[in-house]
Amino acid sequence: MSATISIRGAVKAYGDHRVVDGIDLDLPAGSVTVVIGPSGSGKSTLLRAVNHLEPLDRGVVTIGDETIGVRLHRGRDGTARYRELPERTILRQRARIGFVFQHFNLFPHLTALENVAEGPIAQGVAADVAKQRARDLLGQVGLADRADSRPRQLSGGQQQRVAIARALALSPEVVLLDEPTSALDPELVGEVLGVIRDLAATGCTLVIVTHEVAFAREVADHVVFLDHGRIVEQGQPAEVLDDPRHPRTRSFLARLR
Ligand code: ADP
Ligand code: MG
Repeated sequence: MSATISIRGAVKAYGDHRVVDGIDLDLPAGSVTVVIGPSGSGKSTLLRAVNHLEPLDRGVVTIGDETIGVRLHRGRDGTARYRELPERTILRQRARIGFVFQHFNLFPHLTALENVAEGPIAQGVAADVAKQRARDLLGQVGLADRADSRPRQLSGGQQQRVAIARALALSPEVVLLDEPTSALDPELVGEVLGVIRDLAATGCTLVIVTHEVAFAREVADHVVFLDHGRIVEQGQPAEVLDDPRHPRTRSFLARLR
């Protein structure tokens, strides 16, 4: 299953620094979007806003037909206001959205299997069912034989593959990946990109922040270039990556090479 992602008028400031400065984005169900942009351009903040890890100051994120994190209501004077949803509703919504972090964020004291099964168990799935599914998912990412290993016994590439299995444990409709390979030694990047390539083929809606241009060209339906919290340029990979219109996109891509 997959769902559309719609972002409307997203604004997020820290102090008077607008980190996300008016972003609109519509991503079809099952599409793969790659977000690129310089460090500090707001990529992580935007991604974190999608599952309400970082609530927006203004704007709305919709997954399928459900608004994430806030509910619109009218004040007495008729003005529109947003009210934060209760924590348990936000947790339920977040279960629809898998998230993969740059630094894996696995629980160090849990085994690979326990890391993957923990989310479903917390959501009320029976432990034996959650563990069987976790085994299947570890198999999917090529780690069937590492179920009982703890994160520190695994390479970075293996840890990130466990993190991807964990992100899939609640059968999300949308998966967000924030620089999933940038903390890895170069020789471990390929195995993680391979797992993401498989994931893209399953039809799940993906948003991937990555600077792996060759990979983006191969898997992305849509590429978005972000700078200073705004979309400078977006389009098909061949347009944005190989024939960018905007000088800022050009100079950014030149620096990556
Ligand atoms: P990117 O992922 O593109 O590198 P980020 O979204 O992480 O960019 O950050 C954008 C800007 O927001 C940066 O200048 C960063 O320092 C700032 N920022 C991010 N998170 C916070 C925070 N929690 N408090 C203050 N500033 C932040
Ligand atoms: Mg970031």
